[in-house]
Amino acid sequence: MAHVDRQAWDVVVVGAGGAGLRAAIEAREAGMRTAVICKSLFGKAHTVMAEGGIAASMGNANAHDNWQVHFRDTMRGGKFLNHWRMAELHAREAPDRVWELETWGALFDRTADGRISQRNFGGHEYPRLAHVGDRTGLELIRTLQQKIVALQQEDERELGAYDARLKVFQECTVTRILKEPGGPGAGSGKVAGAFCYERESGRFFVLEAPAVVLATGGIGKSFKVTSNSWEYTGDGHALALLAGAPLINMEFVQFHPTGMVWPPSVKGILVTESVRGDGGVLRNSDGKRFMFDYIPDVFKEKYAETEEEGDGWYEDPERHRRPPELLPRDEVARAINAEVKAGRGSPHGGVYLDVSTRMPAEVIERRLPSMHHQFKELADVDITVEPMEVGPTCHYVMGGVEVDPDTAAATGVPGLFAAGEVAGGMHGSNRLGGNSLSDLLVFGRRAGLHAAEYAASLDRRPAVDPLQIDAAEAEALRPFSAEGGQDAGEGRGEDAGRETGPAENPYTLHQELQQAMNDLVGIIRKESEMFEALKRLADLRVRARRAGVEGHRQYNPGWHLSLDLRNMLLVSECVARAALEREESRGGHTRDDHPAMDRGWRNINLVCEVAHPQGEARTADPALGQIRLSRRETPPIRRDLLELFEKDELAKYLTDEELSR
Ligand code: FAD
Repeated sequence: MAHVDRQAWDVVVVGAGGAGLRAAIEAREAGMRTAVICKSLFGKAHTVMAEGGIAASMGNANAHDNWQVHFRDTMRGGKFLNHWRMAELHAREAPDRVWELETWGALFDRTADGRISQRNFGGHEYPRLAHVGDRTGLELIRTLQQKIVALQQEDERELGAYDARLKVFQECTVTRILKEPGGPGAGSGKVAGAFCYERESGRFFVLEAPAVVLATGGIGKSFKVTSNSWEYTGDGHALALLAGAPLINMEFVQFHPTGMVWPPSVKGILVTESVRGDGGVLRNSDGKRFMFDYIPDVFKEKYAETEEEGDGWYEDPERHRRPPELLPRDEVARAINAEVKAGRGSPHGGVYLDVSTRMPAEVIERRLPSMHHQFKELADVDITVEPMEVGPTCHYVMGGVEVDPDTAAATGVPGLFAAGEVAGGMHGSNRLGGNSLSDLLVFGRRAGLHAAEYAASLDRRPAVDPLQIDAAEAEALRPFSAEGGQDAGEGRGEDAGRETGPAENPYTLHQELQQAMNDLVGIIRKESEMFEALKRLADLRVRARRAGVEGHRQYNPGWHLSLDLRNMLLVSECVARAALEREESRGGHTRDDHPAMDRGWRNINLVCEVAHPQGEARTADPALGQIRLSRRETPPIRRDLLELFEKDELAKYLTDEELSR
């Protein structure tokens, strides 16, 4: 057995975005020695990119708002597939989490009378997004980081070391969750720690801990056109799967309607929904505001039928219905896709999003400073005088680790918790804008709290299995042993030379994966294309076994990507298999061959599990599917929550059996 450094902690949080930092603060405040580990620099997590705001029914902009209205909007947005308990906790607790941020130093934009300002977003009945211009994520991360530093200063005063009870391991990646051996199968055995490598030196180390919180964000880097940052390779999703925890809702991938489409180098970069929330309109190449043609039946009563009515809503929302540009994201993305397909798109394959004719230049520059800067710098477009060209971009994954709503505990693996984008259930089939930042805080706090309680409740720390450390090390070193690759200099992988054929370039494999997912499992899906996708994924899995790199373990991005490929291939297979199985269209899953929403699917979750237990996964034939899919009925929605809706509306969503109950 090679020597690998080990450190003992009570709680390990994987990820330093909003969910991870909030979890770490809670675990540390509960008295646990807490380690946070993140792939990027501290403060650089994907959360920092969040623009529009954080949804919480504080009622500052409209006194009618409350948690029940927020709950209703969230369930409607997710087409009732959301785990109702998560949606309830989220709606109830979000305001407290925002106020708490303020007490920790966050400086939100204000209303004229000095309260936290709230803006409109798609699918939210009232202006609900607390924001800091269009740089809300930056303020959120800054505030959480500041809180962490404050706690570390407290520890230094009390214990003489800043990192005595809260330490950040930045630019370090976790590749395996380690478990105490306990019977056959991946689902048995308690969490014992995490196997990690330092990106700069390539050094391996183990963080031993009875509780691990996954807060690793999303999967967007498996798609070619995406708003997501480089970190979004589905690591937490894959770590959970490989540890024996199931994922749910993986067929639901959100394509944000408005990403940049030009120039090619920036294709996919997000154009925040605040542009539409603040009055921006969508037009096709004929100059028509086409969204009026795309209001689905379930939303007909709530949206304006004419431009005059829609425009009136911005000034007088009590007497007007909202414009259809503010439909939930899945509806707007499909509409844009249809317009482009019908030949009414812009020159670069998008449509036009215009604020220049809707607001004075100085208002645009004040309310949307990042968008103004982004278009000027990247596309040489001045959004105060001309429209933007926009089109759908892969943005968010609704699917994720199946968790207990109250405790964030992952199903089937004691000691594993998940919060934020890596967790599934909260958003159902489609997330409303602004509901992620609030989700991170509500469930990040819960995950930290319950991980701490769990760790404290054990009378014995689960022991790390040395064989698992050896296996994790061999797996991580494999890219240096691929045929045509070079030896890393120390500790060659145990299965060196096993794969046949030339070494594969990880960047080529990644590009092919992204292209396949974009073309075959993208915004509009067909049975035949998903079969094709599964075939291509099988081929890529075989080739990925030969992903080879040259050079050393010291900062070697090709090596890091080779390791990330395992994760992207696993989650992509989950998405493709679940998308093939769900024969209906709902939220972030649109089937060309099953275009309608089917009430019969309302209470069905598709559950993905790894087909081979932890030890066997590496030796299993990669040409065969790695994922086992099953159906699970969702828990019935609590009666008092159902009573928040009109019966007629429920009849559009619930199954006959649920309605008769
Ligand atoms: P992240 O913030 O992504 O953090 C993930 C962390 O995990 C990172 O620190 C990463 O380094 C680490 N990590 C990943 N894998 C590993 C590994 N293997 N080992 C160690 N560490 C690892 N939502 C809203 O509600 N409102 C908005 O206005 C909004 N705007 C957005 C704008 C853009 C451009 C984008 C892309 C998204 C936006 N979203 C918004 C969505 C929201 O930002 C994300 O869903 C959210 O930030 C996810 O937070 P998280 O804490 O789950 O993960």
